[in-house]
Amino acid sequence: MKFEIRGDPHKNPYVKEIMEISGQNIFKCYQCGRCSAGCPMAEFMDILPNQIFMYLQEGDAESILSAKSPWICAACFTCTVRCPLDIDLAAVMEAIREIQLRKNRDYIDPYSVDERDILPPIALVSNFRKFTP
Ligand code: SF4
Ligand code: SF4
Repeated sequence: MKFEIRGDPHKNPYVKEIMEISGQNIFKCYQCGRCSAGCPMAEFMDILPNQIFMYLQEGDAESILSAKSPWICAACFTCTVRCPLDIDLAAVMEAIREIQLRKNRDYIDPYSVDERDILPPIALVSNFRKFTP
């Protein structure tokens, strides 16, 4: 997928949309790194939680919308609790996923899952709720 973005973040439609959906002001973040330091999923992410804000503040929503990190985020709210500015990063991660899902894009194809026979149905259902529109 290709997104045409970069430049003035205030004019970036995806930055605006992320702020609207999440209700968070991404320009407040001052890069203290406390969110990433406490994130249990950080080691699996391609863009760290604090870097999400850095990219958005630079108007680069393209990298964020094509990153794995929002999908790897476990929505545990550790970052939200640790932020000294009360920025709800978990809501920002959710907003980024939401933008993709509203475009009817699957993050995973349910028909490609081979583990259906060994995973409990509730695990599959909750994952499909997160990863598919
Ligand atoms: S909500 Fe997501 S980004 Fe925040 S600490 Fe948890 S896993 Fe990391
Ligand atoms: S903890 Fe808050 S202020 Fe610090 S880097 Fe993360 S989002 Fe930004």
